[in-house]
Amino acid sequence: MNFAKEIKQELLSKNIKDKCCKRAFLAGVIRGTGNLFLQDGEYGLEFKLDSEDGANRITEYLSSLYGFEMREVGYTLNNRYGKEIITLNIHGQGSTKILVDLGVLIENGNEYAVSLKLFDKVCEKECCIRSFLKGLFVAVGNCILPSAKSAQTTGYHSEFVFYHYTTALEVAKKLEDAGVKSKITRRKGTFIVYIKSGEEIKNLVAFLGCPVSVLKITDLMINREIKNNSNRQKNCDLGNLNKQVEASAKQISAIEKLKSLGEFDKLKKDLKEVAIARLEYQDDTLTELAERLNLSKSCLNHRLRKIVHLASEL
Ligand SMILES: [Zn+2]
Repeated sequence: MNFAKEIKQELLSKNIKDKCCKRAFLAGVIRGTGNLFLQDGEYGLEFKLDSEDGANRITEYLSSLYGFEMREVGYTLNNRYGKEIITLNIHGQGSTKILVDLGVLIENGNEYAVSLKLFDKVCEKECCIRSFLKGLFVAVGNCILPSAKSAQTTGYHSEFVFYHYTTALEVAKKLEDAGVKSKITRRKGTFIVYIKSGEEIKNLVAFLGCPVSVLKITDLMINREIKNNSNRQKNCDLGNLNKQVEASAKQISAIEKLKSLGEFDKLKKDLKEVAIARLEYQDDTLTELAERLNLSKSCLNHRLRKIVHLASEL
């Protein structure tokens, strides 16, 4: 279930009234998805959004703040990844000025540079930080909840994607100020600010001002907690045991494969010793087998993995 769409819908259903917060919202969207380009001496901007509500809000706020009329904003519908992507294009008529006003560009005489400071210019007030993060979430926010049926405690995931480490770091800091703990990781040349705990995601969604979505997460967490409590004992006993049995079965079938293909005798001495013991004491746990062979657990594990790997390559 992609929960991000529901959060975005709820978030966008409310009109932002204050001018300061409208600016911050627009800045947040631009920082998330805005692509700058230069044409005829003016900077233009392209947004890609997966929500029509988002596109409508952006044009609405641009018009009320800067008198940008709808006709100056172009829509195209793409069908990438099975999603409808709405592209908004703003160009001409003082678009450079707007970008300066939103703190995206810094003016230096006749030169312009992109500012990596996201918040300085548009978030002087507390209220604006929330609006900025709303815009950012609309642009690049994602949120996935685990299925209500599964009893695992994992599966909660929310993230923001950035192209610069410094911007990712700034956002992570602002989130922390707002009571939301996140982490940063790299993925294919991008930097991801992500949250893995249901509790923290609830804090984020609450901070974004979406009480209906907060309730939904809370319900899900409670339901899963109930399921977990009844399953926990069983899982503890069976989970570990199953894993060991599974691993042992895999090792044994690997050794048998090596034997049947005449590769067993070619094994190095240390591996062969381990393989013989594994076959002989099939029900031993890793700890028991390691003791028997007078090896460390990690050394035994390493050798067994190697055997499985060798067999998998045949
Ligand atoms: Zn504000």
